[in-house]
Parts: sequence; C-alpha cells; structure tokens
Amino acid sequence: MEKKRILVVEDDLMNIELISDLLEINGYEVLEATSGLRMFEIMDSISIVPDLILMDIQIPDVDGLTLTKRLKGDPLTRDIPIIALTAHAMRGDREKALEAGCIDYIPKPFNTREFIDKIGKFLWNSSKKEGEYNA
Ligand code: MN
Repeated sequence: MEKKRILVVEDDLMNIELISDLLEINGYEVLEATSGLRMFEIMDSISIVPDLILMDIQIPDVDGLTLTKRLKGDPLTRDIPIIALTAHAMRGDREKALEAGCIDYIPKPFNTREFIDKIGKFLWNSSKKEGEYNA
C-alpha cells in the first residue's frame, strides 16, 4: 500500500522538524513548506496532490487562512483536507479556520498521540483515490 502523503506548511523550523519526524515515524510521507510561496512551488512541482495538508495559520508571507481559501478556490486542490495549526489558541480561531475551509483545527503545543490519532482519522475517512484529484 502506498504511503499517504502529507504536506506540512509551517515556518517554525523546530516545529516542522518535530511534526515531520512524528509523521514519518508513523508511516507517512512528508512534504515540507516553510512559506506560502514554497507551498505553491511544491504544489506546482508534484503531479499528485497531497492526501492531507497541515496548515500553520501564522506564517510570514501569506497567512494560513488565506492559503486555505486559495486552495479551496481551485478545483485541482479544493478536495484536499486541510487541518489548521496555530500557536495561540485564540478565541474564534477554530471558527475562522473552519470558515476558511479547514476540516479541523489543532492548537500548538499538541499531544503527539492525539495529533496522530486525529490525522489518521481524517485519512482513514477519506475514500478518494489519488488520481481523482487530477481533473
Ligand atoms: Mn508559524
């Protein structure tokens, strides 16, 4: 069975390393983007879209909610499930993330077990096959 591919959009280098290690240990293939620009470069360079995107809300160039809205507005990427990550569990963040099109929200710091369980839940429920994203 092919590995599920997760794109992590996160500007904090310690966090992206932690998240990548955690995902790889749990059998996922990881793509890393440390900026919005880099995310679009990666999306343009791959032929198969990721199975899931973990989207930090606070990133320097284009914020994660704007990136999410852009991905949701593109027929090629709108079906990719996006989970928001944020360093500060601010009141209303969850609502904003869901409104932008995220399927869920994970406040940082997170419990690693709950983190992996949540990701597995969304990938498990996703019945789409890889080629279906390519119009
Ligand atoms: Mn950040």
